[in-house]
Amino acid sequence: MRKAGYKYFPMVLSAPSGGGKTVVRSGLLKLNKKFAFSVTCTTRPRRPGEKDGKDYYFVTEERFLKLRADGKLLEWAKVHGNYYGTPVKSVMAVLEQGRIPVMTIDVKGARSVKKLFPEAVTVFLLPPDLKTLVQRLRGRGEAPENVAVRLETARSEIKAASSFDYLVINDRLPEAIREVAAIAELETLKTERNLDKVKRFGSQLYGKVL
Ligand code: ADP
Ligand code: 5GP
Repeated sequence: MRKAGYKYFPMVLSAPSGGGKTVVRSGLLKLNKKFAFSVTCTTRPRRPGEKDGKDYYFVTEERFLKLRADGKLLEWAKVHGNYYGTPVKSVMAVLEQGRIPVMTIDVKGARSVKKLFPEAVTVFLLPPDLKTLVQRLRGRGEAPENVAVRLETARSEIKAASSFDYLVINDRLPEAIREVAAIAELETLKTERNLDKVKRFGSQLYGKVL
């Protein structure tokens, strides 16, 4: 997947359901135009207020399986009984615009992205404590049985936290957004991402006639 010449890299946000992926992503997009949402596809029914092509591409199971079989998905997972997957196209399109694709995906998906895209930066968001997570899930209007399923899944999800590049505690939202933005900023300054600049300077230096 690695292709030279892109200014940025994908940023993957994962968290247990209710951990704040969606709101942190919105905050990043508002904070700076360099962040862009790479829309993913799902077979789950649309929730009130969600727009096709904006929140997700809502597809049938048949269509999803065809996309997967045709190698059009960068990664995929079945979460809470529904398929979710990231079209390769939607990530590449954002990179080609010279922006950072922000991917809000589950922990298995994050692992697949990191394998295919080692330059991707993975961030695990964690609420400050379990009580807060439950309150946030309820506050989002999840039915009690959905809360229970999400907490059950959270057990295995938090075990995966140690394999992420960064951990951000989502206590105060503005702070969590700032921290994720700071990670992106520092990552862009990594030497290994900027060797072309060193080379350019070096060739000017050595090419110079004194
Ligand atoms: P996810 O996308 O990871 O499932 P959401 O972004 O939907 O999680 O967040 C779950 C709920 O918690 C939403 O109602 C959201 O507004 C709320 N929430 C998330 N982070 C915070 C925070 N730091 N402070 C207060 N409420 C939050
Ligand atoms: P929701 O149905 O609440 O929007 O999302 C449920 C879960 O699926 C969340 O953990 C979300 O991050 C994850 N998810 C959404 N899109 C994708 C995707 O394209 N790939 C993967 N692996 N997970 C996704």
